[in-house]
Amino acid sequence: MSKLITEIGTKIICVGRNYANHAKELGNPIPKEPVLFLKPTSSYLANGGTIEIPASMDHLHYETELGVVIGKKARDVPQSSAMDYIAGYALGLDMTARELQASIKTAGLPWLLAKGQDTFTPISDMIPKSAVPDPHNLELWLKVDGEIKQKGSTKDMIFTIPFLISHISSFITLLEGDVILTGTPEGVGPVKPGEKITAGITDLIDVSFNVEKRSAAVRK
Ligand code: MG
Repeated sequence: MSKLITEIGTKIICVGRNYANHAKELGNPIPKEPVLFLKPTSSYLANGGTIEIPASMDHLHYETELGVVIGKKARDVPQSSAMDYIAGYALGLDMTARELQASIKTAGLPWLLAKGQDTFTPISDMIPKSAVPDPHNLELWLKVDGEIKQKGSTKDMIFTIPFLISHISSFITLLEGDVILTGTPEGVGPVKPGEKITAGITDLIDVSFNVEKRSAAVRK
């Protein structure tokens, strides 16, 4: 399978509130079953790209997350064989227009525009599964202009990767190249135009993205 996640796959399925300390920092309850939502693949941004802050906003929030890249069609997969459906992993950022999300949540409406706009899913190249012996023991980190903002371990996930693949595939068929973004640890916060995000997974991979206000000058 190509390593270019941005060119394959049919969907990005995101897990909300999968780390207890992040759910708490936003005042959300600890979920009893996964909180799921979709981001369109048009929101992908390859490593080195520029995150665009919409013209009507002055910042976005970053969420650094472990992405699970699906390797083959998965429907009704039991937890016991779920890991067989993984091609690899990636570091993904679930960029979020937090204030818009808050007003949408209050109104009980879908999150699409708070989560799914162009460049809202910066993502690394795929790390092959063979390079990751234990995906539940990885350190995720994120810095803004070199200052550490997020540091967390995937061992703190509430719902594990086999559980998520089994659960999601009982409702929605997962296809080769689809990505599950497994949620963010605590420490989310704003990033503004002119700042730079770097993020990574232990020493496996790291990524770098500039942040600019969306304008004709940013669009190429
Ligand atoms: Mg997220």
